[in-house]
Amino acid sequence: MRTPIIAGNWKLNNTISEAIELTQGIKRLVADTTDVEVIVAPTFTALAAVYAVIQESNICLAAQDVYWENNGAFTGEISPTMLKDVGCEYVIIGHSERRQFFAETNESVNLKTKAALTTDLKPIICVGEHLEDREAGNTEKIIEDHVSGGIKDLSAEQMLSCVIAYEPVWAIGTGKTATPKQAQEVHVYIRQLISEAYTDEIANQVRIQYGGSVKPDNAAELMSQPDVDGALVGGASLQAESFAHIVKSSIK
Ligand code: PEP
Repeated sequence: MRTPIIAGNWKLNNTISEAIELTQGIKRLVADTTDVEVIVAPTFTALAAVYAVIQESNICLAAQDVYWENNGAFTGEISPTMLKDVGCEYVIIGHSERRQFFAETNESVNLKTKAALTTDLKPIICVGEHLEDREAGNTEKIIEDHVSGGIKDLSAEQMLSCVIAYEPVWAIGTGKTATPKQAQEVHVYIRQLISEAYTDEIANQVRIQYGGSVKPDNAAELMSQPDVDGALVGGASLQAESFAHIVKSSIK
């Protein structure tokens, strides 16, 4: 049985005081919720303040990106050790916005994933096809490329610390959600890829989130799919009520 995992990706939103207020709201609304892992991913500048709010709660902290070196002349970057130091347990890697706007590649995703794991940070590796890929029948090809590139050379133990987020790019921030059937099909395919690279047992333990316009009114149906183990939520994670609703919808 895989524990559902719901992560809120706040993207480029919220000042420190806004982040604190949002976190306090989420903390209050999910305080009694068990059997779901709840994660918030603020901007780098709000990580420390959010961590102070979630200490001794059932909420974990994630960063939205990381660099693969731990120190040196890399102006503007943040290292895995720094994220660990500020209280992060997870880090989102390879989000489609980073692939699209910041030249993230499968190679950089793999370097970041390995660096995170070495520092005891759990990667949430994002994969997903564009609309043209889906329409051309290339969804599996893209997913295979993103998954195999992201997890390349990971040990079985490291694989077990990773979460995969399936995020069809055409569904992110567009209000268009994959149907539960479309999500389930790709999640099964991702599990098959992990099984081929490792074992069935490992594939059955790795959690695979769905992301792309998850909202309170579609979350329960998506989460009810057998291979959908939670959600990576963008827009709807910016309001405590809608995020908490999605958290509660994920309990199987
Ligand atoms: C995301 O940013 O990962 C995401 C899924 O965004 P949204 O929920 O807004 O589509």
